[in-house]
Amino acid sequence: MMDLSFSLDLSRLGQEEPRAEEKEETVRDLIIIGAGPAGLTAGIYAGRAQLEPLILVGKSLGGQAASTSEMENYPGFPEGVGGMALTEQMAAQATRFGAEIRYEEVTRVDLKVYPFLVETHDQTYRAKALIISTGTSPRPLGVPGERQFIGRGVSFCATCDGYFYRDKTVVVVGGGDSAVDEGLYLTRFAKEVIIVHRRDQLRASAILQKRAKANPKIRFVWNTVVDEVLGDTAVTGVRVHNVKTGEESIIPADGVFVYIGLVPNTRLFEGQLALDENGYIITDKHQRTNVPGVFAAGDVQDPWYRQTVIAAGTGAVAAIEAERFLAEKAYEEAEKTSHTEAQ
Ligand code: NAP
Repeated sequence: MMDLSFSLDLSRLGQEEPRAEEKEETVRDLIIIGAGPAGLTAGIYAGRAQLEPLILVGKSLGGQAASTSEMENYPGFPEGVGGMALTEQMAAQATRFGAEIRYEEVTRVDLKVYPFLVETHDQTYRAKALIISTGTSPRPLGVPGERQFIGRGVSFCATCDGYFYRDKTVVVVGGGDSAVDEGLYLTRFAKEVIIVHRRDQLRASAILQKRAKANPKIRFVWNTVVDEVLGDTAVTGVRVHNVKTGEESIIPADGVFVYIGLVPNTRLFEGQLALDENGYIITDKHQRTNVPGVFAAGDVQDPWYRQTVIAAGTGAVAAIEAERFLAEKAYEEAEKTSHTEAQ
C-alpha cells in the first residue's frame, strides 16, 4: 500500500531562499511542466481561471497521446481521432484562453524554495504553483543492438515511423494495448507484422485482440523474448528464445517496434517529491503531491489506467486545485500585510 499521508503545512513555504541565479527570473502564478493531454487540459482550465499559465513543452507537444495513431475511446469522436490531431486542438484551446506554450526543456526544479524554481536551458522561472504532467516514456528492452539501431530500424513510435516500412516485415515486441494497437496500425504499411510476446496470452483489450487475430498480416510468436536486435547498417532481424523450451532462433525483419510498457518521467523530482516504488508521483484525489502548491496530473502519477481521457480529467482537477491554492495564498498574504500595517 502506498503512503498517502500528506503534509500540507503551508507555513513551510517561503522560509528558504534559492541559490543566487545569474539568469533573469520571471515569477509566474502557475507553471505546467509537460504538454500531453493532462498538461494541456490543465492549461485550458487555468487559462480560463485567468492564471495565464506557462506550459513548458519538453521534446514535443502531445506526449504519448500524440504518438497514438488512432484513438477510438476518447469521448466525442464516434469515428475516432488521431492522437496528434487531438492534442494539437487541446493546445489551440489552451492558448485561446491565455496559456503560453514554450518549447523549453526543464533541466532542474527546486521545490524547497518558494516561489518554486524551474530552470530550462535558457531561462529561470519562479512559480507560485506548479503542475507536473511530464508523462511517461517507452520502456526500452535493454538488449544488445536496441540502442545502436534506434532510427535505423528500432522504433518506439509506429505513427512516426510506420510509413518507412511499406511492404516490409516488422517485429512488434509486447502484448499490451500499445503493441496490438500499433501492430494493427503497422499493417497499413508492412507486408507482415510479427508480434513477439513473452507469454501465450495478450494483455491487450478484447476488441484489439479480436481484430489482431483476424488480421491476415499479423502473426504471433508466443512465449518468446528478444535477446538481441541484429543488423549491419540497419536492422536485419531479432535473435529470440522461447521461454518454455529454451530454443533460440532468428526472426528476420526490417524493423523492430518496442511496446513493452512505460516508465514515468520523474528524474527531475527524485528526492523532492514522494514517488512510489516504480517512480510514479504519489498524489491524493485532489492531485496534490506531498509539497503544497505542487500538483501532478496524467500518466506521471497514474500507474493504473493511463488513458487520455483520465489524463485530461486529472489535468482539470490539478488546475482547479492550483487555482484554490493560489487564492488561499493570496488571502494569507493579504491578511499578513494588513496585520503588519495595523501594528
Ligand atoms: P502495458 O499494458 O504495461 O503492457 C506491456 C506489455 O509488454 C505486456 O504485454 C508485458 O507482458 C510486456 N512486457 C513488459 N516488459 C517486458 C519485457 N521486459 N520483455 C518483453 N515483454 C515485456 O503497456 P502498454 O501496452 O504500453 O499500455 C500502457 C497503458 O496504456 C495501458 O494502461 C493501456 O491500457 C493503455 N493504452 C490503451 C490503449 C487503448 O485503449 N486503445 C492503447 C494504448 C495504450 P505481460 O503481459 O506478460 O506483462
